[in-house]
Amino acid sequence: MSTGGWSCPHSINGNCQIIKKECNPGDRGCVLYAKALFSNQSSLSNEAFQKRMQRKLLKTMKDLSLKKAD
Ligand code: SF4
Repeated sequence: MSTGGWSCPHSINGNCQIIKKECNPGDRGCVLYAKALFSNQSSLSNEAFQKRMQRKLLKTMKDLSLKKAD
């Protein structure tokens, strides 16, 4: 997919060289999976992104609480 201001280096003629099918940004296996929120509510990336952010937040809170206890 090469719309907008960004084009993925893994897309060749609209086909993803990683997942070996038509480019679908945010699909499982895509470099953007769990790394970005998409306006398309049905994007598989969105739930994975939110879970990743929750894990990151919990880790940060845990690290901060451990530092405070020192
Ligand atoms: S599916 Fe993702 S990794 Fe593959 S070409 Fe599209 S944007 Fe790039």
